Amino acid sequence: MAVTTNISQMSKPGTVHLVGAGPGDAGLLTLRGAELLRRADVVVYDRLVNPELLRHALQTAELVARGKRQDVSQEQLNALMISRARTGKCVVRLKGGDPYVFGRGAEEAEALAAAGIPFEVVPGVPSIAAVPNCAGIPLTHRDRCSNFTVFTGHEGGDKSTSNLDFDQIARISGTKVILMGVTHLRELAHALLSRGVSGETPVAVIERGTTPRQRSITGTLATIEQIAATARISPPAITIIGDVVNLRGRLNWFEHRPLFGQRIVVTRARNQAAELAHPLLELGAEVLEIPCIKIGPPSNLQHLADALLELNAYDWLVFTSPNGVTAFFDYFFKVFKDTRDIGGARLAAVGPGTAARLREFHLQVDLMPEEALASKIAAAFKRFESLENLRICLLRAEVANPELPKALEALGAIVDDVPVYRTIAETEDAGGAGSRLLDAGADWITFTSASTVEHFHSRFDLLGLLKKFPQTRLASIGPETSKAIQTLGQEPTVEAKQHTVEGMVSALLKGAGRKS
Ligand code: SAH
Repeated sequence: MAVTTNISQMSKPGTVHLVGAGPGDAGLLTLRGAELLRRADVVVYDRLVNPELLRHALQTAELVARGKRQDVSQEQLNALMISRARTGKCVVRLKGGDPYVFGRGAEEAEALAAAGIPFEVVPGVPSIAAVPNCAGIPLTHRDRCSNFTVFTGHEGGDKSTSNLDFDQIARISGTKVILMGVTHLRELAHALLSRGVSGETPVAVIERGTTPRQRSITGTLATIEQIAATARISPPAITIIGDVVNLRGRLNWFEHRPLFGQRIVVTRARNQAAELAHPLLELGAEVLEIPCIKIGPPSNLQHLADALLELNAYDWLVFTSPNGVTAFFDYFFKVFKDTRDIGGARLAAVGPGTAARLREFHLQVDLMPEEALASKIAAAFKRFESLENLRICLLRAEVANPELPKALEALGAIVDDVPVYRTIAETEDAGGAGSRLLDAGADWITFTSASTVEHFHSRFDLLGLLKKFPQTRLASIGPETSKAIQTLGQEPTVEAKQHTVEGMVSALLKGAGRKS
């Protein structure tokens, strides 16, 4: 017999990891799941999975989406995982919730076992546990209910179409949980009512649970179908039937967070967006990250190169934004190895965010003007010392407010205005947040610099957007940013008192009608 060994059979097959992605919130992925995503060569994921989770994956990973219309059949999907694993690839199959709770995880594992592919199943937080929790509903309660029954509503409530024994389901006490039941809600309610379950039994339906877009409605077994239809509840949604629904009044921590239900646009650069997005998400907001600017090198580096070689000749180095600090030190450390080469000049930072960035480099700030307005900065210097004949190096954006050097020169200073970065338009809409804004509008648009206002406007036409969605409110981080909004003939609804991310969050909380 001829021995012909295929190369791919010789190499060890990779493992397929069926990973539970959790119910929607990106924080509900397990540590094991995140670890596997970080090393996957191939990630195959479902539409129920939060696309945010793909941020864990390598840039080089092959991403295979399984779309709404299930355009890839189950067989094709299994074949794809098997063939990738056979070439030694590490495959992560991300599945909503837990892989083995409905959703065909068991079939996929069986196919892998049959093909002799090593596999691992990583449990996930199932929607059954997480979604009722986030609607303020515990499935059990020591004094009220000691059991719950979970079933699929996919097959409807008709005996001829469903494998479920509704006589038994109706008879059993405790909470009932229906997955995949929204489209058949009327038949399912009827199946239980006709078997003697009281029409007064409390019912809740929760759509997109655990996410900032969660919606929940409540009623009774007799009324829920009508209420769900009016609210246009659509999948994915979970239905909970039983007395525990009444505990919602007291236990609804999730929907009572101060910014729950608010859709907030964050326009700052991608690498800085999380700093604002994260606290907003924690307060319950839905955040649309639409970076409108990005930071690039100045168009001419000569000025900065000259300044770096004579840092010692300056009396002051002045930074006006955290970006300026970061950009300056990127170049500084390309030229010097030792922080002491910064010399003996005093350091000024406009605003606490800029000062904080300097402190990250273990540099103390001698002067911190609170506000970015040129007159306020000049006044702060004047109070500190006479600027007569002092040399000042302004390290800031390429196109920046010309009033600042003028105001300092008016105090007798010799000013070098050195561009260390350039703000350019960001137009990429990788996560689709830009199209969501255009389709659905927003409650708030946050602007964290004048340049975010200008670039947002040229990309989305702020005025047109406000006309289409008149409920939209504008939040500004400080006076310079507000000026840019006013230039467009609009007023910011709120302006942060402290010109920092924290100040912006407080302003939004106040604006949304609550105190920080
Ligand atoms: N394996 C998944 C369930 C897959 S079946 C798990 O463990 O959660 C898909 C059904 O799960 C949906 O039709 C819906 O009933 C429910 N579901 C999943 N995620 C949900 C969510 N975020 N909110 C409400 N229901 C959800």
